[in-house]
Amino acid sequence: MKLLYDEELNILCEADYLSVDKHGQIRHDAFCCSKCLKRFFDDDKDLHRSVKNHYSKCNFKLQDGVNVFMKEHMLDEKIRLIIDLLGFVSKKEQKIDFQVTYHKYIKENNMTVFVYVSDGKPLGLLTTEVKMLTFPNGDKKECLIISDFVVLRYAQRHGLGKILFEYMLMYYNKKPDELVYNKPSHKSQQFLKKLYGLENMLVW
Ligand SMILES: [Zn+2]
Repeated sequence: MKLLYDEELNILCEADYLSVDKHGQIRHDAFCCSKCLKRFFDDDKDLHRSVKNHYSKCNFKLQDGVNVFMKEHMLDEKIRLIIDLLGFVSKKEQKIDFQVTYHKYIKENNMTVFVYVSDGKPLGLLTTEVKMLTFPNGDKKECLIISDFVVLRYAQRHGLGKILFEYMLMYYNKKPDELVYNKPSHKSQQFLKKLYGLENMLVW
């Protein structure tokens, strides 16, 4: 199995297709800088050394805490890269075919992305969008949807998901049962049940 690592060899996710050589053969594990999430997956012989070199000089640093990104931030190439890579990790971790958090969709669908950062390292994201939904009884209602939610594998079990989720609730002044959940993963369902006793969530 090919994996995506950071410069300290923390595993971010499975990453098979990321490390393909000139001939289209999978040859290397892939690496990324834990601050700017720049990926290293070309035909370089020593990717780990390259990423460590890059990291020692990397001067990109997001602010610690929860950062909120919207479509206007997608003009910034570095922010785009971070959002797209976290979206990729989420897709891989949830084993879904479709990447939900992606800069193009953020612009098109007016999504909001909450990114948790510690020591300059983005460690998790929660993506929301507001949509007019039609319910089975014919009612139409504007709903706040939780579209994507992930904490990096090595940063899990430290309460970061809770920080992200509660920040988002405060930001919108909502309660967990007022939201709609887009294909929630088993992990997300367990999380909502454990923290908020939410069993019958509105799923979209
Ligand atoms: Zn970097």
